[in-house]
Amino acid sequence: MNCIFCKIISKEIKADVAYETPNVVVIKDVNPQAPTHLLAIPKKHYSTILDCKDGALLAELFTAAAHAAKAAGIDKSGFRTIVNTNEEGGQTVFHLHMHILGGRPLGGRMG
Ligand code: 5GP
Ligand code: ZN
Repeated sequence: MNCIFCKIISKEIKADVAYETPNVVVIKDVNPQAPTHLLAIPKKHYSTILDCKDGALLAELFTAAAHAAKAAGIDKSGFRTIVNTNEEGGQTVFHLHMHILGGRPLGGRMG
């Protein structure tokens, strides 16, 4: 499959891995929008959140995101988790992922 995150997970493309669980990998975003910008990505391909009915995996995604935020030292100051979906949601990579942003005041409650 021609999916950049699948290629990162299969190690065909390099990425900076911050944290990993059996079913989720957390990498540094290549184009960071904040001092800390991580992406928590299920190892199994789902194009969007609409395609994933696996509640245990979604729990693992949230837990991995929280762990990675703590490891990055942004838990006390605070951070934001975002899942963009489809065109108007601003999704550009169609492999489900959760952004973890922190390290600066993020302004606006939603963006
Ligand atoms: P989206 O817009 O789909 O919610 O977010 C996709 C994110 O993936 C963007 O923030 C973009 O910078 C990041 N990204 C795209 N290609 C790569 C890549 O090859 N490596 C890494 N580490 N991040 C990527
Ligand atoms: Zn994929």
